[in-house]
Amino acid sequence: MNYLIDTHCHLTFIDKPTREAVIERAMKANIRKMITVACNLEEVGSCVALADEYEFIYATAGIHPTDLGENLEQDLEKVYEYAKNEKKIVAIGEIGLDYYHDNFSHDLQMAYLLGQLNISNQLKKPAILHCRAGKYAGENSEVFPDMIDAIKKSNLNNGVMHCYSGTLKEAKEFLDMGLMISFTGIITYKRNQELRDVVKMMPADRIMIETDSPFLPPKNHRGEKNEPAFVIEVAETIADVRGISFGDVMKITSENAERFFGI
Ligand SMILES: [Zn+2]
Repeated sequence: MNYLIDTHCHLTFIDKPTREAVIERAMKANIRKMITVACNLEEVGSCVALADEYEFIYATAGIHPTDLGENLEQDLEKVYEYAKNEKKIVAIGEIGLDYYHDNFSHDLQMAYLLGQLNISNQLKKPAILHCRAGKYAGENSEVFPDMIDAIKKSNLNNGVMHCYSGTLKEAKEFLDMGLMISFTGIITYKRNQELRDVVKMMPADRIMIETDSPFLPPKNHRGEKNEPAFVIEVAETIADVRGISFGDVMKITSENAERFFGI
């Protein structure tokens, strides 16, 4: 494969004229497929609408841990219905634990996570997992063991740790449980040497790339709004760190994304 795939962006977070330009720039930059990820039920609707408009855009259904609702049962039912009925929905996400913003109790976050992991297993659509510790080094770092518990408890079939930000040791545990690991522009930041160490040790068939745009612009686009075209910089960094060609990174990451999401 001689093209790139942005496996995680939020195209519905930007207004329509900006979005059209962003999509055009992505196509020109050889980003052939994009997955626009939802964080709550309302966004699932807009992501599906966008995916229906563009053949090469795919959507997800899920409730983010900073965006939980008031009725767990009802919310889970809606995620299930969307994911079951909409063909362009390729994953359950993004779901997980966020102890950085800590908007909701850890118990409630866990209940939504387990419920949605269950949907992922039932419908055989992979889970996109968000896992974020506290603001300061070591703060709320129990988020990673909590996530590992949830994955084990639910016997998750198929999942990806999105925007990986953990340690090398945690990465090995996620790999041992059969998960994929996906990297964003934060691997380009000078301070994140440990993430580049993770990139280096990854088995080739488990790596995926993404922007998480409009957030987290890579180093050379600092201060700008991130967009799918900038996934090139993530791929370049991976090529650099692993000592392989850019072409190999395209091939590896796009093959993995197509197999994993069935796109
Ligand atoms: Zn995201």
